[in-house]
Amino acid sequence: MSPALAGLFPGELENLVTGWGQPAYRGRQIFEWIHRRGVLDPRQMTNLPTDLRQRLALARGEGEEVRRLTSSDGLTTKLLLRLHDGEEIEAVAMQSSSGRNTICVSSQAGCAMGCVFCVTGQFGFARNLDAGEIVEQVLRFSSGARPVTNVVFMGMGEPLANYDETLRAMRLLTHPFGLHLGARRITVSTSGVVPAMRRLAEERLQVGLAISLHAPDDALRSELMPINRRWPIREVLAAADYYVECTGRRVSYEYTLMSGVNDTDALADDLARLLHGRLCHVNLIPLNPTEDINLVAPSAHRAVAFERRLRDAGIAATMRVNRGRDILAACGQLRLAEKRSRPIAVAAG
Ligand code: SF4
Repeated sequence: MSPALAGLFPGELENLVTGWGQPAYRGRQIFEWIHRRGVLDPRQMTNLPTDLRQRLALARGEGEEVRRLTSSDGLTTKLLLRLHDGEEIEAVAMQSSSGRNTICVSSQAGCAMGCVFCVTGQFGFARNLDAGEIVEQVLRFSSGARPVTNVVFMGMGEPLANYDETLRAMRLLTHPFGLHLGARRITVSTSGVVPAMRRLAEERLQVGLAISLHAPDDALRSELMPINRRWPIREVLAAADYYVECTGRRVSYEYTLMSGVNDTDALADDLARLLHGRLCHVNLIPLNPTEDINLVAPSAHRAVAFERRLRDAGIAATMRVNRGRDILAACGQLRLAEKRSRPIAVAAG
């Protein structure tokens, strides 16, 4: 299967069209249609000759929107996309009053990491997305009234387990002929794939790195995140420190608060000791509840107490607001709900 047009750089598009006897500048025109104007359908690229549009339309097509839901406050929109082979992925746009328009993208269909608090993690891994499929999620939100300002790789999948396509997608998003996002406006989240964290550090990009930590000790983290048995906390923190050393950028640690699991004062103290002296920020995220996971968020009082304890110990920490609960905004929820709502096909015997 040929790669999606959205995954090609201007030079690659030039090679494609010159191979068809077209002038090279058409390649850059196509890139600008896709990445600057968010037009994915070649038939709508009106300054291209008809025969070229028809030929481009034979390349692998874009995904199909299955659902687009907007939260009651209008600030969060969730998209369910069906890809060319039937796999379904989610992307979310989150707007803020300050004018930020952050797109959260998936990097894989499904996920192999099996984190116990994550719906996506319960349903296994299907395949890696290619760069075009990753970028398309952003482009589907870029033609609206509000320009895309930030991209976070925090949707379905482990981006650093799909390293090459994640990197390629970031280079496409920052390309000057396209969206031209600043690298500092992109954040990659990882469950702690240590070799890939080190490799990313050595790229010396200015992208942000967020590490899903969720527990301050190996016993608890291994229960929540099986990947911890392969790369324990000590190795994850060393790789994060290396990232800071190579890029000069502060990393963030994500900590999903789960009632009775990882939200005690004692664990807050352990977390503060673990991160003491490190250039980092802790994002506390009360668990987004879902009926498929037998875990709940702590009370607001408990969550605030946890945050205060970290701050009192000198750790920069912020409580994240759960957005879009009315549109199944937690990773994997919309895909699951959509699957359940479909009638089950029964093969004729
Ligand atoms: S939290 Fe992220 S890494 Fe863990 S299972 Fe879910 S998608 Fe995968």
